[in-house]
Amino acid sequence: MPYKKIPGTKDILPDEALWWEKIELSARDIFRLYNYQPIRTPIIEEETLFNRSLGQTSEIVQKQMFLIKNKEDNYALRPEATVSVVRAYLENNIDKTSGFAKFYYMGPMFRFERPQKGRLRQFHHLGCEAIGSTDPSLDIETIALADDLLKAFSVFGYKIKINTLGCDKDKAMLAEFLRKRISEKKDLLCQDCSRRLETNVLRILDCKKTGCRQLVNTLQLEDFKICAECQTHFNRVSDGLNSIGIKYELSPYLVRGLDYYTRTVFEITHGELGAQDALGAGGRYDNLVKELGGPAQGAIGFAFGMERILLVAKLQDRQTPKNNLVYLIALGEEAKRGGIKILSELRKNNIACDTDYENKSLKGALRRANDIKASSVLILGEDELKRGIITVKNMLSGEQREVKREVLVEELRSQYAKNP
Ligand code: AMP
Repeated sequence: MPYKKIPGTKDILPDEALWWEKIELSARDIFRLYNYQPIRTPIIEEETLFNRSLGQTSEIVQKQMFLIKNKEDNYALRPEATVSVVRAYLENNIDKTSGFAKFYYMGPMFRFERPQKGRLRQFHHLGCEAIGSTDPSLDIETIALADDLLKAFSVFGYKIKINTLGCDKDKAMLAEFLRKRISEKKDLLCQDCSRRLETNVLRILDCKKTGCRQLVNTLQLEDFKICAECQTHFNRVSDGLNSIGIKYELSPYLVRGLDYYTRTVFEITHGELGAQDALGAGGRYDNLVKELGGPAQGAIGFAFGMERILLVAKLQDRQTPKNNLVYLIALGEEAKRGGIKILSELRKNNIACDTDYENKSLKGALRRANDIKASSVLILGEDELKRGIITVKNMLSGEQREVKREVLVEELRSQYAKNP
């Protein structure tokens, strides 16, 4: 084998890619229900765009960026898309032309992580961003949208955890509060968290190491109060979620590792995922638009990991979906020439079809038709050519009949209409 894929990347072969398409299709339907519009941003951006927005001390910027450096420029492969969407929103003056806007996207993201189950270096986000509002109703709608998406994907048994980080001032005070309490017992911290104590103390709250967990459990976070305005916002969000019957858990220890998050944050986990149990996560980022040079506007978004959705989606009948495909076997030069016309006519009539391009024998070609689960086979040999007919074999019943060439397309169309 001359080449292998890079560790932490994945080939998504057709059998699996079909399921990706199913998920993507139902996601588009749900996004449409909530009036989200598609957006596609580049996968490379200026490195500084991420450094500035995600935070110099964030895990992603410190350890996980895929950097591309050439003589003059420093680019990075995007580790997530929120920042790019905000950049695109501002660069294209959408803040001035439409103000409030809702976007969704699906695409690859890149993080230089140690590959393990559920953790890749190239993975895919299915996410959305609503930019231009601080209204708590939008937080409610956004969480409802995440919930609806999972239902549409037939994902069950997930948990929605929500928390509020408060505004920037609250976050700074929380960091101070944590630093004080944690410093008293800092011997319990793992090596990473000892560093985080100085650089990104909030992150200690979601460290999974035993010592850190023990310490965090003694912090009595309930002693810390966010400002009245942020508390009112959060109360509105939780009341709203209750009013539409969305089940969630309040999770005071939930923090997000990126600088840009403020107020409502949420994470959706699934027990079947093991150590990497987050299906998706998101939250408000009310300062990011301004931070990137735009007006002071609130925003909120989230992203699911596609690979993780596929790990837990209970898609019915996980086999390759039934293939309504007609397979033409043309035997000999002349039949092949005629075959091209038949294929063209079938496709013009919206009938999916294919043929043998490997000059197989009749037996070999029939085997191939069977392997690719064709529903009908058309056989065009010398005899059929002479008589102006085609032999049509139904691959399910095995029944074989002769059909006049002129009525072939019509016949097949009615057959498909009967057995779509
Ligand atoms: P994040 O931006 O880290 O909150 O990511 C949102 C979601 O993307 C996570 O909840 C995961 O489902 C997924 N995700 C993040 N990083 C990876 C990764 N390295 N490999 C696979 N999925 C990931």
